[in-house]
Amino acid sequence: MEVIQEGTLVIGITGGIGCGKTTVSHFISELGYIVISTDEKAKELMVTDFNIKNKIFRAFGSESYNSDGSLNSQYISDLVFGKTDEHTKRLSQLNSIVHPPVIDYMIEEVQKYEEKGEPLVFIESALIYEAELEEGFDYVIVVDSTEENAIQRITQRTGMTEEIARIRMKQQISQQEKKQLADFVIENNGTVDELKQSVKTLMNIVKNLKVIK
Ligand code: ATP
Repeated sequence: MEVIQEGTLVIGITGGIGCGKTTVSHFISELGYIVISTDEKAKELMVTDFNIKNKIFRAFGSESYNSDGSLNSQYISDLVFGKTDEHTKRLSQLNSIVHPPVIDYMIEEVQKYEEKGEPLVFIESALIYEAELEEGFDYVIVVDSTEENAIQRITQRTGMTEEIARIRMKQQISQQEKKQLADFVIENNGTVDELKQSVKTLMNIVKNLKVIK
């Protein structure tokens, strides 16, 4: 039997690259909710965490970092995002270095807010389904947009080529599958203002949800 109990409701926000996860998270945060971004944390840890840096250095060589200590993102991207089996192998290798400490961070943050008695916490993470983390969430929101919109946004924002953007998409679980697994889907194929409105509507539903254990 399912029992409704008091506790922190943990809601994941995920979706394919360029679908609008960060923008949705920003709107949720603007509405006053707590949003933890694991994608940002992953980027931060790759630069600040000695163990991670060391492992990346050993796996991919000294070119992985610039002389000022920043990550040589272009070099790493070229190694892990591509069509060959070697690229796929290197991506798994990078994930096996970065995911565990990011997951630890996620768990620690949730515990921290649980101890504080926080009723609701959102976690933005690109890899909820890829890393099979969905069991750790009470509900998951998938941000969805068409492949063309996502490609256009990524290439505009990052200068990444369309080819690489498509390859990166293919290395993730498809949006179709993610939407089937999701508890809620936010469609992001209109304007940013329309997206903001969809987020507000969804938050009116989400704020009344209970933890079901
Ligand atoms: P990534 O996986 O690369 O981190 P993401 O899913 O977090 O991407 P965002 O960073 O939120 O996606 O959005 C990608 C880009 O598209 C950003 O520059 C954002 O401002 C822009 N964007 C998001 N939604 C819209 C929209 N509805 N209309 C126009 N631009 C948008």
